[in-house]
Amino acid sequence: MRFRWLKSGLCLAMLALQTIPTHAEVSGNDLPDFGDSSGALVSPAQEKEFGEEFMRSVRAQATLVSDADVVDYVQQLGARLAASSDAPGHAFTFFVVDNPAVNAFAGPGGYIGIHTGLILAAENESELAGVMAHEIAHVTQRHLLRAYESANQMSLPTAAGMLAAILLGVAGSNPEAGIAAMSAVQGASIQHQLNFTRANEREADRIGIQTLAHAGIDPYGMPGFFERLQQTTRLYGNNFPEFLLTHPVTTDRIAESMTRAESYGHRKEVDTLDFRLIRARLRVLNAETPAEAIKYFQPLAAKADAGPAVDYGLALALWRNSDYPAAKKRLQALLDKDPDRKIYRTGMARLEMDSGQAGNALKIYQDTLRLYPGDVTVGRYYTSALIQAGKAEQARQQALKMLRDKRARSPEIYELWAKAASVAGPAWETHVASAEAYYLYGNLRYAIDQLNKALAYKELSDYDRARIEARLKEFQAALKKREQS
Ligand SMILES: [Zn+2]
Repeated sequence: MRFRWLKSGLCLAMLALQTIPTHAEVSGNDLPDFGDSSGALVSPAQEKEFGEEFMRSVRAQATLVSDADVVDYVQQLGARLAASSDAPGHAFTFFVVDNPAVNAFAGPGGYIGIHTGLILAAENESELAGVMAHEIAHVTQRHLLRAYESANQMSLPTAAGMLAAILLGVAGSNPEAGIAAMSAVQGASIQHQLNFTRANEREADRIGIQTLAHAGIDPYGMPGFFERLQQTTRLYGNNFPEFLLTHPVTTDRIAESMTRAESYGHRKEVDTLDFRLIRARLRVLNAETPAEAIKYFQPLAAKADAGPAVDYGLALALWRNSDYPAAKKRLQALLDKDPDRKIYRTGMARLEMDSGQAGNALKIYQDTLRLYPGDVTVGRYYTSALIQAGKAEQARQQALKMLRDKRARSPEIYELWAKAASVAGPAWETHVASAEAYYLYGNLRYAIDQLNKALAYKELSDYDRARIEARLKEFQAALKKREQS
């Protein structure tokens, strides 16, 4: 499928934006229908398809953080901001890219990526939330339509692959990802289209600050962070934050958003313990060696004013160093003061697991799931622990139960299902689960191969066979589209 619908849809879409304020006075015939099935417009279904293809390209081209606590934190903060945005019904997916560059970006379909480098560069939660609220505003204000327009001469998979490469900052270094097909001229043109206009930036600042205030978060976080990034750039010229490439920051803009923040006032939440815990966690995960992490946290923990985030960081560092008794002691002290905190509970359960106390670990997970019913993060750790403890059938049931919830359909859960099914399920089920994981990772050939393997089993029921065949057709159609690009 060529991207013609984007071009023809674009002008109408722009027109629609201009006519929205007078919507009530205009007769229905004058307004384009975004849900039109004629294929001539950017329908929500088409944007969704573009977004899903974009996300598969991101997974194929970058390493995403799979640590469930980190992902959970960013998704919770994102959901809170989205609910306070000017389009609370819009669907968003937040994910974390394992990359030290200070970067964040919004793709089609509401997919918003945050680099670990940006989380570590933010000094408090309001700064991180400021960037996320700004990205959310680019999506709700449809600023991405310019990027879609520049993609209108390409097939959907090529456009999605290119967008992902440029936004991740890996364009030119990844010839495998469909980027080879992009001429230098096309690349430069798309890069140019991705640099939001000054008007876009101002609007994203304005709406983003409003979102922060509605969410009860300090609105100064956004201009404050942008200002610091700009200053860093002046000091370390060659260490230019990627973020400023697609979101040019000017002194004027910072001054304007400072004034805007002023109108809401400071009186909001600047920071949360969860933010500081996640930063400590990332610091330990990113350290080259456990010793390096211990060296960082030990002197901080010795200080009289050391807070729980420092203790948590040191507990994780000790754990990474396989010093389980010391790690447990420190984490238990935190749990005694704050027994319901999820990240402490999952931390303790994993420590029990790693120190050979599977029974204790499973009990903590079960208790925590009673406290947080249906929680995807706890469910994922629990499933993994059940597999490790040799309870494959229970793990399989847990994975299947979770997969009924759309939010749980991540490659990680499909992988856990595949693992559990390989021991406890019918033989074909592992292939079906693996196929879904490969599909989400953007590897269609492997996904198709797995479904064909599943179909080779004679004991399949008619119902299961029909379902797998239908899925196979969808994957084959997606592959065909990609190959035509
Ligand atoms: Zn921006």
